Amino acid sequence: MEHILSGRAAAADLQAKLKERVLALQAGGIVPTLATVRVGEDGADASYERAIVRVCQNVGIRLQKHVLPLGCGQAALEDQLRRLDRDPETSGILLFRPLPKALDEAAAAACIRPGKDVDCMTEAALAGVYLGTSGSWAPCTAEGCMRLLAHYGIDPAGMHAVVLGRSAVVGRPLATLLLRANATVTVCHSKTRDLAAVCRSADLLVAALGKEHFVGPEYIKPGAVVLDVGVHWNAAAGKMTGDVDFDAVAPLAGAISPVPGGVGAMTSTMLAAHVVAAAEAQKE
Ligand code: NAP
Repeated sequence: MEHILSGRAAAADLQAKLKERVLALQAGGIVPTLATVRVGEDGADASYERAIVRVCQNVGIRLQKHVLPLGCGQAALEDQLRRLDRDPETSGILLFRPLPKALDEAAAAACIRPGKDVDCMTEAALAGVYLGTSGSWAPCTAEGCMRLLAHYGIDPAGMHAVVLGRSAVVGRPLATLLLRANATVTVCHSKTRDLAAVCRSADLLVAALGKEHFVGPEYIKPGAVVLDVGVHWNAAAGKMTGDVDFDAVAPLAGAISPVPGGVGAMTSTMLAAHVVAAAEAQKE
């Protein structure tokens, strides 16, 4: 097993395959198109947007960026989403989240049909993930974790997987995907007792709690696979860091994803994969 699980390598591999599918679509007169909708300016959104631009350019997806002012109001946001949903040239829609507090995310999501919901934010798309009835896709980061494991030939079947974090965008859908891949799954959160001991029982530990360098060696069973989903800007170090204390944990882990260049690199590529799949489905 490789020791460093490089999301960049896995993403490059997937992007090469996506390029071929885009060429096939273009030959049939279809240009897969992603519409992004952002409300206001946010540092994290801007960084995700830059990653999306790079991947779309590389794969051949047309990108339409729509930016609404901070005080735009719910009606203007919903109008914009409905327009894009009706537009036959738009294959998929990404709404940057979380939205400003004054806006209703669920009502906004309801303006997007599941077939264009490339970020898996609608109730129908999420229900498909949880009920196992969806033939399409899961939230990008959760799916990116699964793709990263698959790229390195790591089969979660039979493993005890501990997911640290139960958010709707990462922890919960990932726990579901791991369960579907036949792992035995434990989901931890802020009320979990004796967290380090639970994590030390993991063959596969996923840190998705949003606390910089929280996971140290006392959380690791020697030889365990460790995925770090966390993203933090460490101003003192002048670089991105994760939820895992990489330098302290890496010597113990059987395999570990770094930050940057790990799970984060997979997220925007999974989004591109969903846009291509949406365009293919709309062609049929
Ligand atoms: P979130 O919505 O804030 O959820 C954090 C989860 O961690 C919650 O379930 C929370 O428990 C749990 N938690 C927080 N502190 C804890 C503690 N001390 N002990 C145990 N559990 C604790 O965060 P998120 O959106 O899932 O994101 C998690 C991290 O992933 C963040 O760093 C985020 O930036 C990053 N992220 C990265 C990507 C990527 O592409 N790489 C994508 C999305 C997010 P409760 O439920 O009990 O509150």
